[in-house]
Amino acid sequence: MLPADPGIASALLDLFDASPSPYHAVTTMRQMLEAAGFADAPPGSGPVGRWYRIDGGSLVAWVVSAEHHGASPLRLVGAHTDSPNLRIKPQPDRSGPGGARQLGVEVYGGVLLNSWLDRDLGLAGRVVVEGSDGPEERLMRDQRALLRIPQLAIHLDGDIRQHGLNLNPQRHLSPVWGLGEGPSFAEYLAQQVGVATDAILAFDLMAYDLTPAALTGLGDDFLCTARIDNLLSCFLAVRALVAVADAPGAAIPMISLFDHEEVGSVSTTGAASPLLRHQIELLQSGLGTTVADAATARAASLVLSADGAHATHPNYADRHEPEHQVSLNGGPVLKINANQRYATDARSAAAFVAACRAADVPFQRFVNRTDLSCGSTIGPATAGELGIAVVDAGCPQYAMHSARETAGAHDPGWFQAVLEQVLRT
Ligand code: ZN
Repeated sequence: MLPADPGIASALLDLFDASPSPYHAVTTMRQMLEAAGFADAPPGSGPVGRWYRIDGGSLVAWVVSAEHHGASPLRLVGAHTDSPNLRIKPQPDRSGPGGARQLGVEVYGGVLLNSWLDRDLGLAGRVVVEGSDGPEERLMRDQRALLRIPQLAIHLDGDIRQHGLNLNPQRHLSPVWGLGEGPSFAEYLAQQVGVATDAILAFDLMAYDLTPAALTGLGDDFLCTARIDNLLSCFLAVRALVAVADAPGAAIPMISLFDHEEVGSVSTTGAASPLLRHQIELLQSGLGTTVADAATARAASLVLSADGAHATHPNYADRHEPEHQVSLNGGPVLKINANQRYATDARSAAAFVAACRAADVPFQRFVNRTDLSCGSTIGPATAGELGIAVVDAGCPQYAMHSARETAGAHDPGWFQAVLEQVLRT
C-alpha cells in the first residue's frame, strides 16, 4: 500500500487560508498553475501546451502534448470552488437596539447555521467599480475580526433546553460590526478598495471564519479548516494536474473547477453551463477534431467528480448505512447513489477501482441509508452536459457544510495519487 503522506495535507493549510471566496480560490490556483508553467489561453491560442482559463469563480486547466491528436480522449477531474456561507445583502446597513450596527446577510447554499455563531468573521469577495474604461473587478479581503453573530444567552432562550437551538435566517443571523455612529457599508467598502463611494457599482461579498487551517488531534490525525467541501478537491486536482504535466498519457488531462455547485450549478460559470463544453470544443478545434473524432474521444473519456464524502460520525452512527461505514484516514471514498444524485455507475466505478489499485491506494464505498436522501455534486450536471462517463469520489469528512469542517490528514495524499493515476491514464 502507498504509505500515508500527511505532508500533502500540511502543504494545503496556507492554500485554504488564502482562499476565503471562490474568486480568491481561483487566484490561489492560478498562482499554483503559473508556478508550474501554465499560461492563460485566450481563444485561438495553440493547442500544445499547459493552459488555464478563468471565468469569475471558475477555472479550467489542461495539458496538450505533441502526441495528442483530434481523437484523443479526455481525463477530467471536476470539483467546485464555492462553499456554503453568509453573503452580504446589496443594501446591508441596519441599526439595531442598543446602538448596534448590523449587516443584512443572505444564506448561500445549505449552511449549518449554528456553526457561524460566536466566531470572528472576516469579509471577502469581489467588488465591481467604475473604472476609466468601464467596470473593473477588484478582489477584496478584510482579515480583521470585523463581523460577529452572537448567540442568544441561554437564560434568554427558554426553548433551547427542550427543543434545541432554533435559528431563523432572517431574524437571527445579522452580524454586528460596530456601535453608534459610523460609516455606511458603501463608505467602508469604498475605502477598502480605494475608490469614491459612488464608484462602487456592485459586489459579491461573503463572511468567512478567520480561524487558520490546522492539523489537529493527538497524532495530527485531522485536517481542520473552513471550505474542505470542496477546496480540498480543487487543490488536489491542481496538484495532480501539475504532477502529470511533464508526462501526460494518451488522454488529454484536464481539470474543471466550477462555482455555484452549492446552489445547484445552474449559472454562467456553474457545472450546468456550457463553459467546460466550449473549452473542450476550442481545444479540440485546435487539434483538428472532426465530428467523428469527437464521438470517438467522448466514448473513451472519463470524468472524476471530486467532492467530499461523509465519514461515519462516531456520535451519530445510526445516521449511516451500517454495511458502508466510512473512516477518516481510511482512503478516498467511491460515492454511489442509485437515483444518480452521484453520477457513478458500475462502469465508471470500475474505472475508479482500477485507478486505486494501480496507485496502490486503499479506498472505501459510500451509499446513504435508504431512508435518507443524499446531497449531490457537479457529477450529474457534468455527465448531462458532456455525455462522458462520470464517477463521484472524494475524501471523507465530518461536519460537511459547517463553517469549519474536519477531514483526515492522510486521505488527501492518497486521493491525489488516485487523481494523478486517472489524469495520466
Ligand atoms: Zn461539495
